[in-house]
Amino acid sequence: MEKPIEKIVIVGGGTAGWLCAAILASKHLLDPGSNKKIVLVESPDIQSVGVGEGTWPTMRRTLNQIGISEQEFLSKCNASFKQGTRFLGWRDGSQGDDFFHPFSLPVGFPKINPGTAWLENSMGTDFAKVFSVQPHLCELNLAPKHFKTPEYNGMQNYGYHLDAGKFADLLRRHSVQKLNVQHIQANVEQVHRNESGNIFALTTDSAADITGDFFVDCTGFHAKLISQTMGAEFNSTGRTLFADRALVVSKEYERPDSPVASQTNSVALSAGWVWDIGLKDRRGLGYVYSSSHISEEVALNEFVSHLCASEGDFDEGTVRSLKFESGYRPTPWINNCIAIGLSAGFVEPLEASSIMMTELASNFLADRWPVSDSIIPILSKQFNDIFSSRWLRIVDFLKLHYCLSKRQTDFWMDNTSSSSIPDSLAEKLELWKFHTPWRDDFTYAQEMFPTASYQYILYGMKNLNPITESSCVVSQNTHAAVLSKVNQLKGVLPSNRDLIGSCSIL
Ligand SMILES: Cc1cc2nc3c(=O)[nH]c(=O)nc-3n(C[C@H](O)[C@H](O)[C@H](O)COP(=O)(O)OP(=O)(O)OC[C@H]3O[C@@H](n4cnc5c(N)ncnc54)[C@H](O)[C@@H]3O)c2cc1C
Repeated sequence: MEKPIEKIVIVGGGTAGWLCAAILASKHLLDPGSNKKIVLVESPDIQSVGVGEGTWPTMRRTLNQIGISEQEFLSKCNASFKQGTRFLGWRDGSQGDDFFHPFSLPVGFPKINPGTAWLENSMGTDFAKVFSVQPHLCELNLAPKHFKTPEYNGMQNYGYHLDAGKFADLLRRHSVQKLNVQHIQANVEQVHRNESGNIFALTTDSAADITGDFFVDCTGFHAKLISQTMGAEFNSTGRTLFADRALVVSKEYERPDSPVASQTNSVALSAGWVWDIGLKDRRGLGYVYSSSHISEEVALNEFVSHLCASEGDFDEGTVRSLKFESGYRPTPWINNCIAIGLSAGFVEPLEASSIMMTELASNFLADRWPVSDSIIPILSKQFNDIFSSRWLRIVDFLKLHYCLSKRQTDFWMDNTSSSSIPDSLAEKLELWKFHTPWRDDFTYAQEMFPTASYQYILYGMKNLNPITESSCVVSQNTHAAVLSKVNQLKGVLPSNRDLIGSCSIL
């Protein structure tokens, strides 16, 4: 007999658990006639991972959809505007080794192929600066919009930098107070399954057993349900993406009015890279590195020297160390259990794709809340196929940042070894010797990174091959138009700090 799915139980109250709860609830619980229920159970003892400060522009739609105002979000989450990522020292570490991956598509895209136009006419110049105003605006620490621009709209495309702990707090309050999500604080100790393998109840240490029709594993790296109970496999991606550790720290601004960067800075070091994210009241920094290439002691020394070189004195006692295994679960949805967030997988945070994956997975579930258990085999197959493809694509895109580098330490040289490059990427790199990355290269309907992103990285890394295609537009004209737009925007846009400062509510 078919069993209706009315009650969804989410285990875990980090960013993934609360985002998923809010996305599901905003779509399904607000109708007074709804017989659906969402319960979120969260351990009072097990800490959330507490990092995850960079987001994609998708977050604007998500926040709007769940009913949080942009002003409240900026104010409560110590957040700032992010317009892309700046890569320093990735090509070879020489002076001026610096390129940008902005969120806005290149000017004229997709009517013109900017890669072709640039290779024909402007190879010596900076690709992103020729085709986008955002690297120029970010150099001036400008915001992507004006004080009067409506919430969640931008004069340029943007996402956010945010404080992960404060973000989970805001989502919790909003989900419980405004979206009718039931919140239980307890440690889930046992997970009970019936003869068909479906979960039907959770035993906790301090609350009554929690029953449900469908369960979402948001327990982070613990993967309490999807791995410990359902036995989902884990595909390691460590052969391609070597990073498996992070040293993390917060840093006060020198002065209350210090500029807030409008981009994530990503600086290459000997065995990985350092992120530098400007929030409203502090900066978040972290060295993501490979433990197969350097020890924690060496990494810490290098991180501290890097910070001291740019910041003066630095107290290394405040640095926190995190371990992770690079990889993903090819079947994050098994029977009536789905994994969302770190329990489903994690690869290093270059390009900040993890929270975006949570948004995408939660929206899939919200759009296709299974009416009954009979539809689950079809939905789970569809979900697992889509998300496995996404993981593979993320791995390829991140590897593209590494495999063209000419840096000379073991870590970087190992990254260029053909045995570490997935066939799917190696094929594309061969193709891009003769053609620029273009739409036909990415036939999958739900791409996370647009073709333009591949061009920004490929040509930012100065992967220059004479191209046989011809373009109808001369990129010098585009560059002149971009510079003229920058001049116009300079007179209009406030600084990132001034705009977020105007969004203070208690
Ligand atoms: C170094 C690093 C940097 C990152 N940077 C970025 C970034 O810039 N951008 C980005 O998008 N992502 C980033 N991420 C990923 C991001 O941190 C995660 O996507 C996000 O925090 C979601 O985590 P989570 O909620 O899945 O897990 P967690 O935050 O670990 O939450 C797990 C929850 O499960 C609960 N729990 C665990 N076991 C039990 C149990 N038995 N019973 C009850 N509750 C339980 C815990 O109490 C906690 O509430 C980064 C990750 C790392 C490691």
